[in-house]
Amino acid sequence: MTNLVLFGPPGAGKGTQAEVLKEKYNLVHISTGDVFRFNIKNATELGSLAKSYIDKGQLVPDEVTINMLSAEVDKNPDANGFIFDGFPRTEAQAEVLEVLLKDKETEISAMVALEVDDEVLVQRLLNRGKTSGRADDADEEVIRNRIKVYYNETAILKEYYQKQNKYHGVDGVGSVGDITDRLSAAIDSL
Ligand code: AMP
Repeated sequence: MTNLVLFGPPGAGKGTQAEVLKEKYNLVHISTGDVFRFNIKNATELGSLAKSYIDKGQLVPDEVTINMLSAEVDKNPDANGFIFDGFPRTEAQAEVLEVLLKDKETEISAMVALEVDDEVLVQRLLNRGKTSGRADDADEEVIRNRIKVYYNETAILKEYYQKQNKYHGVDGVGSVGDITDRLSAAIDSL
């Protein structure tokens, strides 16, 4: 099984690359942000809980996120592997993911990370906000908060996977195709 954590700050291009990589490597793509947005759209209990955090650019609490992620993994017992997009975002989430995969006699193969400068991220997200319909892309203050939360709570996961020799960072600026090539080179080297 190949299990990838697709990593990077908000606006780095994780969703775009996940769409390409899931086809190329025949993996199940789980985006925790997409699952939350689906639940918000369908007015579920999980959606209304998550919305208050998402709209402010804060993280949804670990317990809620972990339960949801675990259920998504269980929905795909025959998967060839997973691309986790937007998860884990905290050390607690990374630890639980490790246990969860170990129970299935597998593990994270690699963290592939898109590296992009902050000001490029802000501009990309403001642009995306014009068409994405996402409230958290429309407000520069919320965007900057999401980037701040990334540095305060999520960026530490680079070291977490580096310690396991699983971190592969690539330049996240360029054409979609070029960036896919960089990620593929990292994945093919596993
Ligand atoms: P994303 O689509 O990955 O940019 O996520 C959008 C928002 O969903 C984030 O700003 C968080 O509020 C929430 N979210 C997504 N994934 C997680 C996660 N792993 N842990 C906590 N909150 C999350």
